[in-house]
Amino acid sequence: MAILKVARLGHPMLRQQAPPVPVEVLRSTEVQRFIDDMIETMREYDGAGLAATQVHTLTQIAVIEVQSNPRYPQAPPIPLTVIVNPVVTPLAEETEEDWEGCLSVPDMRGMVPRYTAVRLECLDRSGQRVDIITKDFFARVVQHETDHLNGIVYLDRMRDLASLSHIAEWQKHWLGIREQSD
Ligand SMILES: [Zn+2]
Repeated sequence: MAILKVARLGHPMLRQQAPPVPVEVLRSTEVQRFIDDMIETMREYDGAGLAATQVHTLTQIAVIEVQSNPRYPQAPPIPLTVIVNPVVTPLAEETEEDWEGCLSVPDMRGMVPRYTAVRLECLDRSGQRVDIITKDFFARVVQHETDHLNGIVYLDRMRDLASLSHIAEWQKHWLGIREQSD
């Protein structure tokens, strides 16, 4: 397995729409190895998720996992989830603001509104159909990663850039303060 290089904001691929992966391509040894490398890379950098476009590959694959993550100490655990060709549908109009970071926007945090529950339709890494309801932090990460596959970063979703903070200032001035949910 290999640790992949993560593209940072400004890399044009982060702004491109990734095409879906055909099932037979997904099942190839090459793509399966790429998924293993994505998982390894996400764990190496303590990401809660990683999208293929972040590692210079224009294809609709993302990985999500939260165990005890030093970047997200308060986050509830999420089992390892590989999502392929995701379609995300909001299940409520309600959104909630909370902090997000991104391996492609290093050392920054910002308050991002997200739907609190979404339906996730996708394939798993073996090509099986998945149709699940995700809530709260899991739903947040699903929306963040699916956005990446559509060329969107969390900064685009922020209502007010005033909360955008360097991590050192964030820890000093913002940590533990949660803005009013809407
Ligand atoms: Zn990200």
